[in-house]
Order: sequence, then C-alpha cells, then structure tokens
Amino acid sequence: MLELFLQKPKEMKVREMEPLADPVGDEVKIRVIYGGICGSDVGVYLGKLKHATYPLRPGHELVGTVIHAGPDSSVEMGARVVILPNTFCGECSYCRNGDTNICERKKSLGVNMDGGFSQEFLISSKYVLPLPDDLPNEKAVLIEPFAVVVHAFKKVKITKETSVCIIGCGNEGMLAAALAHHLGARVTAVDINPHKLELVKQIGDIRAVLPEDLALESKRFDVVIEAGGTSSSVENGIQLVRPGGSMVVIGLAPEAILPVAYVVRNELTLYGTIIYNFPSDYLQTIEYLRDPHFCVDAIVSSIMPFTSFQQAFENALTGNYGKIILSFNEA
Ligand SMILES: [Zn+2]
Ligand SMILES: [Zn+2]
Repeated sequence: MLELFLQKPKEMKVREMEPLADPVGDEVKIRVIYGGICGSDVGVYLGKLKHATYPLRPGHELVGTVIHAGPDSSVEMGARVVILPNTFCGECSYCRNGDTNICERKKSLGVNMDGGFSQEFLISSKYVLPLPDDLPNEKAVLIEPFAVVVHAFKKVKITKETSVCIIGCGNEGMLAAALAHHLGARVTAVDINPHKLELVKQIGDIRAVLPEDLALESKRFDVVIEAGGTSSSVENGIQLVRPGGSMVVIGLAPEAILPVAYVVRNELTLYGTIIYNFPSDYLQTIEYLRDPHFCVDAIVSSIMPFTSFQQAFENALTGNYGKIILSFNEA
C-alpha cells in the first residue's frame, strides 16, 4: 500500500505505508477511490498554511469504500462513502448546537493531522457518510469542497431575482458560480485569470469578467461571494455590494481594510463562513449533486493517477485549471 507523504514543505513523495492494523471500536478501513486537490493542499505543500504541521500525509477531499469495519462501526463493509475531514467533539456548546464547523476541538485531516492521500487509511465511522448509489464517484469527490459553498449560501437568500457577484474563480468560486446559476440568479464571476473565466462560462449562462472590466461599469450586486482570499478581493468586493446587500466571505485573506462608514451608511451585511456542518450540509450538497440539472462537468479539469502527484500539483499551482482529482486505484 502506498501513500503521499510530505516530510516538510515542497518535499512530497510516494512511499510504502506502515501496514495498517485492523479497525477497532467504531473505526473503518477505507480503500480510497478519489482524492481532490484543494487550494489548501497546495498551501500545505508550499508551507503557506499557518496551522499546518509536518511531517504530514495530505488530502481531505476523499471518496472511498469501507473494506473493513470495526465492531462498533455505524457503517457497513462495502459501503461507498465520503469523508468528513474536520473532526468535532460533539460535546462543546457549538457542537451541541449543530455547529460542528466551529467546534472548539476541531482538527483538520491533511492539515494538522494525517490526511487521506493514500490507498488505504483508518478513520472513525463518525466521520464517514454513505453515498447514494446514483451518485458517481466523479461527483461525490466534490461533496467536501461544495459543502463549503452550500453552507455559505445559507447566510443569504438567493433566488431568480438575485444578482450575485462571485469574486475569485478557484474551486470554491467556480462551485459558488455553479450553485448561484443553478438557483436561477443572475451571476457575474470575476477573476484575474482569463483561463478561469473561460472555464466558468462553460458552467452555463454566467457573465465572466476581469476585475478591471467590472470596475468600469460601477455595477452593484445584491450578494457578493468573496472567494478570492486576498485583501484586495475583499476590499473590491465590498464596493460591489448594493445598499442593503450582503457579502459572504469564504476566502481566507489574513486582513483587509474595511470602509466602515460605507458599510454603515449603506446597511451592508458582512458574513464570515467556515466549512460546513455535518451531516446537514453534506446531505444537502449530495441532493444538489444528484440533480441531473446541476452541471459540474466544467469544474473538474482532470483525473490523474496519484503516482503523477508531481504533475498534478504543478498543474494546480498554475491556477489555470479547475478541480484536479487524484485516482488511488492500483498504481
Ligand atoms: Zn478542500
Ligand atoms: Zn465540539
């Protein structure tokens, strides 16, 4: 059995794993099918994610099959599952309220504990969710990143009447554009990379523009989704909100200058949103992905064998691609 392993930033390799024990208690052994590469995986690889710890096995967007279940597992052997890669204690006041995303004791697979870019791994069955038979693996691998967007959209009301501007067309921005479009909103997507704008247009009837082109129009939107994660994308984003409108911030810009008087005078609302609640947001995400009218084909750029991780990460680093998925079937 093989795994990807980061001794320290930028030193990734494929290596033979320590043999896994049989699952005990509520654990299950997962045979990994697909693992999606996320912006945070690239951050971990480059050493740019502050709370990452090394050495580390990366990977958190994971779909696999349960090949061995411990005696107290809640999931049966043979089940095809998606992984919840953020732990929650179930006991703190946030968890008891259903807000597992802000659990006081949260840890993140592939960031500050070993992830799942491996052919097999063990995990508590508390963190796996069985998949419906009609959801193919190629869509199921999008559940984790898409659940971030599904959770973020709960902060605001998006209907056919809503004008939505998506700032930044990375994986989360593209998924946000797809969901806003699916909900019937008038969608404008902004990115500095023309390759990304071409990808976004393939999702459907979405206006995709460079920031400088949008700046010329002095347009305002009911809802701005900030998925660029830079101080300038936040600062430009707030200027695009119409009076009484909202901005939902998904990106993790360390800081930005906020025009407080502008926010106050125009009664703007600013939301921060982090990952998703489990299982509620995962279940809703699965329903969207099962809908044949919900098209995500344009969002997945390629599926590569995990042994080609070097190429896969290099491609992800260029910023010219949509989601890149690693396949962990026999090397
Ligand atoms: Zn991710
Ligand atoms: Zn908790």
